[in-house]
Amino acid sequence: TEQFLRNSDKLSALGELAAGLAHEIRNPLTALRGFTQLMKARSGGNETYFELMLEELDRINLIVSEFMVLARPEVTHIEYKDVRKLLDTVVAVLGSQAVMSSVEIVTRYAAELPVVPCDEGQLKQVIVNVVKNAIEAMPEGGRLTVEAYADSASHVTVRFIDQGVGIPEDKLVRLGEPFYTTKEKGNGLGVMMCFKIMESHKGTMRFKSNPDKGITVELKLPTSETAEAL
Ligand code: ADP
Ligand code: MG
Repeated sequence: TEQFLRNSDKLSALGELAAGLAHEIRNPLTALRGFTQLMKARSGGNETYFELMLEELDRINLIVSEFMVLARPEVTHIEYKDVRKLLDTVVAVLGSQAVMSSVEIVTRYAAELPVVPCDEGQLKQVIVNVVKNAIEAMPEGGRLTVEAYADSASHVTVRFIDQGVGIPEDKLVRLGEPFYTTKEKGNGLGVMMCFKIMESHKGTMRFKSNPDKGITVELKLPTSETAEAL
């Protein structure tokens, strides 16, 4: 019997392998990025190729980091965090990208928000992905509204309401499918990673079309009241 791995064991063996591989790819990638940056600085005004190389290296890096989460989706480092702070940090980090796309980010938080037990790094990755997707959905600009409130003592709800291109009804089911992307430079791993992370936080992620324009992404996270088993 020992020679047969159960399906879940096979999956976790595959996950280990994938995580290991991703980690191994990252180290040489970091070195490559460093040297490329150095060459760019010394290129004497002839920077275009190096900029393209940096962009492509960053694409590989993003694929690898999203893949790493898929391979090891379990929550490892739990802390009680203020969702508002996480949201504000991400909004600040992506501020210049928003400005470049003429996207205005408006935040509306309830005065009282309970802390949520989470792996801060992972939850930030979710927020980064959702906000990036929203910005990318508004190439001609628009507004992204970020709301956060506690519907009860048991859950915090965060909504990202954009005015972007939206998603046709029949394509909604494809979200979270690996490599499903409608973007020229997309990889279609972001939403899948978000689903995994939300699942491992005992939370949910939903997509809804807005009545006028764009979509709303809704995240629900359990508070300490309901997440004792995390
Ligand atoms: P990527 O961003 O690399 O395409 P994702 O997994 O992040 O991959 O997203 C998958 C697809 O879901 C996108 O290509 C896009 O078609 C759709 N999508 C995600 N978020 C939005 C959004 N806010 N508005 C419109 N489409 C979206
Ligand atoms: Mg994306």
